[in-house]
Amino acid sequence: MRTFAHTSPPSRVVFGAGTVGRLRQEVERLGCSRILLLSSPPVAEAAARVREALGDVLAAEFDGAAMHTPVEVTEQALEVLTGAAADGIVAVGGGSTTGLSKALALRTDLPQVIVPTTYAGSEVTPVLGETRAGRKVTRSSPAILPETVVYDVDFTLTLPLPMTVTSGVNALAHAVEALYSADADPVTDQQALDAVSRIARGLPRLAADPADREARADLLHAAWLAGNCLATVGMGLHHKLCHTLGGSFDLPHAQTHTVVLPHAMAYNAPAVPDVMRRIAEALGVPDAPSGVYDLVVSLGGPTSLRELGMPESGLARAAELATSTPYPNPRELTTEGIAQLLDGAWQGRRPQ
Ligand code: NAD
Repeated sequence: MRTFAHTSPPSRVVFGAGTVGRLRQEVERLGCSRILLLSSPPVAEAAARVREALGDVLAAEFDGAAMHTPVEVTEQALEVLTGAAADGIVAVGGGSTTGLSKALALRTDLPQVIVPTTYAGSEVTPVLGETRAGRKVTRSSPAILPETVVYDVDFTLTLPLPMTVTSGVNALAHAVEALYSADADPVTDQQALDAVSRIARGLPRLAADPADREARADLLHAAWLAGNCLATVGMGLHHKLCHTLGGSFDLPHAQTHTVVLPHAMAYNAPAVPDVMRRIAEALGVPDAPSGVYDLVVSLGGPTSLRELGMPESGLARAAELATSTPYPNPRELTTEGIAQLLDGAWQGRRPQ
């Protein structure tokens, strides 16, 4: 018997294909009639469909969402929001657009409806990472958690294959670290293993046909489950490393997760053999860390920090930063061990 405590963050989820048609109803359900729509130029087509679905409850638009949620961008968007007297926010896009929405909600307490177009999972977490003067600071608050998420599989059909692969592995990372989290419970375990299976099944199908709707549905469903895990239990070494590398060396978010995950798993594997066995089973491979690496290679994803632009001279500082403050992780963290891990990730070596 396992003793546990489980808290589900209170968000409403609508899932399917063509669900953008329910957007206006969802906005009105929250009592909103003057919406600020957030997006970015690469998702202009999706934004047009959202605009059409919102009709005359749309009051203003801002399409300048940027990676790592810089406060200057938030301040610009806040001016648009205030000028339009908006009473609700709708965001269509990846984690960056969701981040902007959360930053605005934190400042205004307005309700948010998120329409995700990647697999980052941020839409179901009460966490926000903002960048001020080059430093990314993370905070958590109930005001940050979006009220409603409208998952529309059709909106993910345009996600280019390289981003599909890295964003899918970003979701996989939430699931993997949830399974060996000190706070793991039977509910998150099930969600995480379901997410791992859906990602392992869906990604190869999308590599063959990026418009495969069933595979897209698997990935988006997995993104939701993995996002729930991220929201519910504490993450470990992998997320700490990616946060350090993204924040201090400005490496791209999903790509960094893709490179680091097999190495972080290999580091932790000796401490959690049973968890790794369950992940391997869900992936359908004999060994979990090398199985994830091989999956990424087979999908043409990035395998080295070098190719992401990480300077070799920064590895020692990254190892130091990632071990400077203690945090829960199944295996003890040593600067030497993490330096070795980072060297393997920088070179792109297959973990053994
Ligand atoms: P992103 O939102 O920056 O998107 C990457 C690129 O893909 C952008 O140019 C975007 O416009 C484009 N794009 C997105 N969807 C598309 C689509 N369907 N078709 C074509 N192009 C599309 O990247 P991301 O990985 O989704 O999010 C990364 C950000 O989210 C980081 O800042 C990260 O810190 C944050 N994040 C936060 C949490 C949290 O819980 N707070 C969780 C995960 C990620």
